[in-house]
Amino acid sequence: MGGVRYPKIVGYELVDQIGGGGFSSVFRAVNIEEHRVAACKLIRLTEETTEKERKIIEKEIRVHSALKHPNVLEFLNAVVVDLKHKETYVPGFYMLLELAGGGDLFDKIAADVGVSEDVAQLYFMQLISGMHYIHSEGVCHRDLKPENLLLDAAGTLKISDFGLSSVFRLKDSGKTRMLTERCGSLPYVAPELNSEKPYHAEPIDAWGVGVILFTLLAGNTPWDEPTKNSPEFRRYVSGEFFCEDPWNRIPAEPLSLIRGLLTVDPDSRMTLDEAFQHPWCIRPSQLTGRPMELAQKLAQSLIDNGDLDLANPDLGAPMDVDEDTVMLSAAHQSQFTQSLMLFSQTQSGSRYNPHLTRFYASLGPSLLINLVYEFLQSSECEYKIKAKPPQPFTKERNVEIWRMRIGVFKGWVNIERYVYSLPGGDGKEMEGCLCTMQRDEGNPLSWRQLWRAICQSSLVEPHVLRKKA
Ligand code: ATP
Ligand code: MG
Repeated sequence: MGGVRYPKIVGYELVDQIGGGGFSSVFRAVNIEEHRVAACKLIRLTEETTEKERKIIEKEIRVHSALKHPNVLEFLNAVVVDLKHKETYVPGFYMLLELAGGGDLFDKIAADVGVSEDVAQLYFMQLISGMHYIHSEGVCHRDLKPENLLLDAAGTLKISDFGLSSVFRLKDSGKTRMLTERCGSLPYVAPELNSEKPYHAEPIDAWGVGVILFTLLAGNTPWDEPTKNSPEFRRYVSGEFFCEDPWNRIPAEPLSLIRGLLTVDPDSRMTLDEAFQHPWCIRPSQLTGRPMELAQKLAQSLIDNGDLDLANPDLGAPMDVDEDTVMLSAAHQSQFTQSLMLFSQTQSGSRYNPHLTRFYASLGPSLLINLVYEFLQSSECEYKIKAKPPQPFTKERNVEIWRMRIGVFKGWVNIERYVYSLPGGDGKEMEGCLCTMQRDEGNPLSWRQLWRAICQSSLVEPHVLRKKA
């Protein structure tokens, strides 16, 4: 990896970056001898890192490593490379974590549509099981949001990112304390965090769980912030929301659960124990639990609104397939990741990609990236995005890609060449490209909305390849 050197973490080598942003980078890590894959979250240390920041990272490691539950991302190991070793390795805290092979849950949800009630119920039950356990260990998460809910290769929900967590109850004495720090992201944060007063820990996560349940069913967060600055929140508090979309689309049972969890007064808010007892949670799941069925159910709204046809059109076989890559990606296949089509066709075979924000186009990379750039700067794009002019860049295996950094949304648009032959096209070679969007930070749902806006823009749309009906 061009110049920078990462240490091996208990036999695992850092391979390629799969996420991260401001403070951290997340890599896929491979232990070749043991044939195992994991993820490695690296929080860099620099001359500017303060003692207080170090303490916060050490707390994340201490808290996360003590948690073990099927719905909590497993913490495997940690290594610190101190600044004095910077000549040898990149200094930082390296956390080896279970690989969430299914990517983010909310990357697979159609924006403004959401998932079916049975899929929402399944993931909600997994979320509250994990959260119930975390609270029973005296820990409060405080940063529940879509980007921190990951899926493993079998499609099981994994709660991750304990960077803002806090211990509110001592296990030995059972002594409980109130918390004071103001933290979390505005759309998911509980309203009592707007005041200066200390707050109880558990109701903060109960509120977060309520916002997540709404977001699963509606495909968007209920408000930008739980204050009177938000018209949506004002209408929620006054009760006017009832007859409005998307609230009026949510069935009565989950709606009563959401209202219980999103009770403004933390003392009367529904607890996670009460949520477990709610009629919607007690009723037996309609899903058999088979990974393939789950993937199909999860993807249904993406199929219905055409998102999957964009991410995976039938382009026939790519020309010049490299058998090595095919074998390599086959090793990571599971029924869930396969059925969700987390593998994209590239020039060298099929490549694993945890995100569905991708599309193919019938133009060469340098032409397409300029159209995307032009669209982002134009008045047609409502997101007011600052993009840096696209640059060519050479990736591993000498594949040249065109890439562009985009602000606000914090991520990259990457475009690589893709030569294909359409089924029934007499084997004729067609020159095209594969565009993948790589999100570093932020909400996966807004990222999907941006991806859709690019695919549907008047500049790009005529060149987009879709599955033939
Ligand atoms: P933020 O503060 O923005 O939430 P962070 O720097 O604390 O981010 P994480 O949330 O832990 O970092 O990870 C960032 C992103 O990396 C996640 O949203 C996810 O897409 C990816 N990621 C993290 N851990 C894993 C993992 N174990 N397996 C796969 N992907 C992961
Ligand atoms: Mg995070």
